[in-house]
Amino acid sequence: IVRAEQVTKSFGDLHILNGIDLQVSRGEVLCIIGPSGSGKSTFLRCINHLEKIDGGRLIVNGSLVGYREVGEKLYELPDRAVCAERSNIGMVFQHFNLFAHMTALENVIEGPIQVKGVGKKTAIKQGLALLERVGLGHRAHAYPRSMSGGQQQRVAIARALAMEPKLMLFDEPTSALDPELVGEVLDVMKDLARSGMTMVVVTHEMGFAREVADGIVFIDQGRVLEAGLPEQVLGNPREERTKAFLSAVL
Ligand code: ATP
Ligand code: MG
Repeated sequence: IVRAEQVTKSFGDLHILNGIDLQVSRGEVLCIIGPSGSGKSTFLRCINHLEKIDGGRLIVNGSLVGYREVGEKLYELPDRAVCAERSNIGMVFQHFNLFAHMTALENVIEGPIQVKGVGKKTAIKQGLALLERVGLGHRAHAYPRSMSGGQQQRVAIARALAMEPKLMLFDEPTSALDPELVGEVLDVMKDLARSGMTMVVVTHEMGFAREVADGIVFIDQGRVLEAGLPEQVLGNPREERTKAFLSAVL
């Protein structure tokens, strides 16, 4: 469902991604780990075309991200088509980015109503079911400021799921949370993984990665330095840099 081949990206003279190769199949959970500044967030942003890649190929949901290929030629997609591609991808950030002036339920139904043209009644019904699913049925009419960080992040997950994405991207979804709130968000993510959702998760939660991931990639200086099964990469890393990173975070 995601295939990156030699993906490169620079900001000016800064080479951030230096040839990323990786694959995620339908229903798989891939965890991305790596030091600060190694390009993890930038890569996630490339997947939904919030950043444009400079080189290589990035295929998501069966098509080249942001482009149409006709024979040997590439044509940039118009904004409308980029939005359509993006609506198949849910993204959850470190900071929950909920709409502050909307209740939990209003946050969740906004996308389906505005982007997908779902009727209000249907959207509310589905929205309530999603809030129920993340354990927040009782907080549907609460505003973000009255919720804990863990609750807000669960609303953000429900909001992303409301768009019925084929792929979910998580960028350090628990790293802004107080430690006692991390578990409730990881539990929701574990359920989601078990339900068969395809997920790419940037995280420092090695316990989660070990338990849930089908594969781990360690990114360093914009390259995949090591990739494999969780027990291999986390339990028995081949590369010195992976070892050093793991001993620093564990
Ligand atoms: P962290 O673990 O701290 O979140 P990361 O692996 O997610 O790190 P990125 O956020 O992808 O790293 O950033 C990689 C590098 O790219 C950083 O040095 C950052 O300063 C730089 N960078 C990111 N976005 C831009 C931008 N829009 N313009 C210029 N430089 C950028
Ligand atoms: Mg980041």
